[in-house]
Amino acid sequence: MLSDKITENLGRSSWIRAMFEEGDKLRAVHGADNVFDFTLGNPDTEPPNSVKEAFIKLAHDDTPGRHRYMNNAGYVDVREAVAQQLRKESGVNLSAKHVVMTCGAAGGLNVVLKTILNPEDEVIVLAPYFVEYLFYIDNHGGKPVIVNTSAEDFQPDVEAVAAAVTPKTKAVIINSPNNPTGVMYSEQALQSLSAALKAKEKEFESNIYVLSDEPYNKIVYDGAVLPQVLKIFQNAFVINSFSKSLSLPGERIGYIAANPAMDFCEQLLEGLVFCNRTLGFVNAPAFAQKAIAGSLDEAADVEQYKEKRDILYNHLIKLGFSCIKPEGAFYLFPQALIPDDVEFAKLALKHKLLLVPGKGFGCPGYIRISYCVSMKTVKNSLPAFEALVKEVRG
Ligand code: PLP
Repeated sequence: MLSDKITENLGRSSWIRAMFEEGDKLRAVHGADNVFDFTLGNPDTEPPNSVKEAFIKLAHDDTPGRHRYMNNAGYVDVREAVAQQLRKESGVNLSAKHVVMTCGAAGGLNVVLKTILNPEDEVIVLAPYFVEYLFYIDNHGGKPVIVNTSAEDFQPDVEAVAAAVTPKTKAVIINSPNNPTGVMYSEQALQSLSAALKAKEKEFESNIYVLSDEPYNKIVYDGAVLPQVLKIFQNAFVINSFSKSLSLPGERIGYIAANPAMDFCEQLLEGLVFCNRTLGFVNAPAFAQKAIAGSLDEAADVEQYKEKRDILYNHLIKLGFSCIKPEGAFYLFPQALIPDDVEFAKLALKHKLLLVPGKGFGCPGYIRISYCVSMKTVKNSLPAFEALVKEVRG
């Protein structure tokens, strides 16, 4: 018999999966090529050649120990390579000891939350959000506190965050470039968030850790520059992965980087390594660690994502949708053309368009379009969007 909690959580489980399953039914009837599935953030692209070659080399490497357990934080040479990359990007003086290799960003987020949360501690989550955050916080006994971003541009509403902080606030999760909006949080918004959190830490004599979830940090457009969270927040953990930046989601590889200047850094690092072990991850996959180490400067083909963004964005605007032009990630988050986003997604199904209602991201009234799909799907879907608009507008 299932636990009460899992029974409850299954009931509220993800809209993304629900829509994907609707898609399976449509694909069975109409054939995969005739269904336009924009539900999953599962990149259609292949990893760069350097990563594929590294895997081949590893498979042929007979050096004893390649498949053994290691330090629970990961290989020192890989952690040093990640630290070096972060030093180059942020100017913050990290070393290997500030990096813990993890099973993707999902694993990394769970490790950090497990390390810092006492029962009933609060974690501020900015809406719209990646829905799994709510389950991860719950996994470790915390309570999510949802704060809306600005309705105008989805930037953090710093005053609203400050107003939501209590003596129980232990962390704030930020995600930029953002899933589901594609918005990049501005340097100015993050600087003022940092000042507001510092003031609250002083007021409540507490530590509030910023968990910066950055799996889309390499997918940015139009010359935009991602603000460096480690430079802005003293109490910052960067949680990153290679699922999107190197198109490796199935290999489960990512890392946590802790700002060396953070409060209780040494103890926290020890806690992270302990939790990576005792959550049952033990260590990040050995081959995947080695495979990414030589490709930290590489990124998936951002140009093809930009092309898809432009085609879909321009088409949606032409059809009368209201949508912020994303600066990163591979999602569009337009307003639904009727107030009920779930109803709108159901209407879209009639045109074999699979979209995810904003409700699933804590932001009703919108829909998410994930465009990490083939160019053929993007182009062939355009008449379907047009037909959907015609139906809605009569
Ligand atoms: N965070 C965000 C915002 C995501 O969109 C995803 C995956 O889609 C993850 C974390 C999990 O990524 P990973 O595959 O690295 O665990």
